[in-house]
Amino acid sequence: MMTNLASILLDSAAEHADATALKLDDTVLTYAALERLSGAVAAQLTADGVQPGDRVALISPNVPQMPVVYYGILRAGAVVVPLNPLLTAREIEYHLTNSGAERVWVWEGMADAARAAAEATGASLTVIDSGPFLQSLATTEPTPGLVERDDQDTAVILYTSGTTGRPKGAELTHANLRRNAIMSTGLFALGAGDVLFGGLPFFHVFGQTSALNAAIAQGGAITLLPRFDPAAAKRIIERDKVTIFLGVPTMYIALLRDPSPVDASSLRVAVSGGAPLPVEVLHEFERVYKATLLEGYGLSETSPAVSFNQLDAIRKPGSIGTPVPDAQLRVDDGDGGEAADDAVGELLVAGPFVMKGYWKNPEATEAAIVDGWFHTGDLARRDADGVYFIVDRKKDMILRGGYNVYPREVEEVLYEHPAVAEAAVIGIPHDLNGQEIAAVVALKAEHQDDDREALTEELTAWAKERLAAYKYPRRIAFVDALPKGPTGKILKREISIDA
Ligand code: AMP
Repeated sequence: MMTNLASILLDSAAEHADATALKLDDTVLTYAALERLSGAVAAQLTADGVQPGDRVALISPNVPQMPVVYYGILRAGAVVVPLNPLLTAREIEYHLTNSGAERVWVWEGMADAARAAAEATGASLTVIDSGPFLQSLATTEPTPGLVERDDQDTAVILYTSGTTGRPKGAELTHANLRRNAIMSTGLFALGAGDVLFGGLPFFHVFGQTSALNAAIAQGGAITLLPRFDPAAAKRIIERDKVTIFLGVPTMYIALLRDPSPVDASSLRVAVSGGAPLPVEVLHEFERVYKATLLEGYGLSETSPAVSFNQLDAIRKPGSIGTPVPDAQLRVDDGDGGEAADDAVGELLVAGPFVMKGYWKNPEATEAAIVDGWFHTGDLARRDADGVYFIVDRKKDMILRGGYNVYPREVEEVLYEHPAVAEAAVIGIPHDLNGQEIAAVVALKAEHQDDDREALTEELTAWAKERLAAYKYPRRIAFVDALPKGPTGKILKREISIDA
């Protein structure tokens, strides 16, 4: 059996040769074109001496050329190391050195930082441009087929920050990624006629597996948006009749805040993951867009989806649903057993989606995967119906005067207030209590001019009324927008408030 992840492309190209695989405005790549062009990349790499298992760094936004190179690297039997296009030269250098990548393929707009990093490590640089690059590939004799790989061979190294230290490379195997992509297509009933919104970055696990590889595995089309912007996203949904929208919560919030009109009648289902989706946002999106919004959960280390509000299972707003097929979840009771219903503990994951380990970091791997169970660093509970809820991240928990406060619970209450667009709750140092609860809030456009002092009082009273006395925020600060990472996750570590 072929286990190379790129077999999903070869299979779909055989079946849907003339169907659209990728689209960016006027540029369209059919399955036959994507197959042929990625074969040409594989031929170039092989001619350049690349060996199976060699790491090749890929730095690109979501343009059609990105998957061409991604599948090309895989077909040559090499390992893709996708990097965030926003990294500085210094950061790229760290990733090249750590992964041992001797080749870097970079999108033209981001070539300067990559060039400096490649010069420092001695790696070769290939610049992907918007014009001649595809033309030159079209005249290269493609390698037919692909280099066979074993189940346990690494396909992609995804760098992830984790809780401490420098980014670690999660080694995901061909089997990890292929199985999660194919399994995911069942979660949102993705088929050949679907048009997916391609605004989640493909260098991150969510966009890579749940949008790119899932769509390619089924012969679906992806319409690309290289830089997320809610108005542009709406235009694409309407123009290309998007049927499946995938996004992180901040994208849903941005879509709902954006005033431009949209005909989203083509939309059938939306998928949220990567961070907690406030229940208010879920309800408002379903009301306005008239599509089912399904929340799932996963991590880079688990390829990613391991839990999902599944179409044919019990679904609960605010939950991450039930374990996906083949995944095992366990709420740790701290003694190696399973916690009782509704008890909070660290969420553990086992099964075929768990990474092989952290690249060249056996200590971190041993700490993360114990007896086959991956420790997620997230606190969760399972209710009597077997539905899982993420309570918060272990590291974000606030300890106030001996009580555990989970910021997410306080954030949910703030999101319910009509003036609040975004909210993050953090702990700030406090003499007596150790930590005190503070909230940072971005207001909806129509509340920008509200009196801040009155609003502070109102929000405090709002939270106090709905939460136990030790949980409501004692300080509230207002900002235009919360700091977000490249995938739209709110970056708590970049938020600070004077104590
Ligand atoms: P990453 O490896 O970048 O995908 O980040 C994984 C982390 O995102 C998890 O450990 C969770 O903390 C968070 N996460 C992902 N999905 C959800 C979700 N549905 N609800 C809450 N947190 C989530």
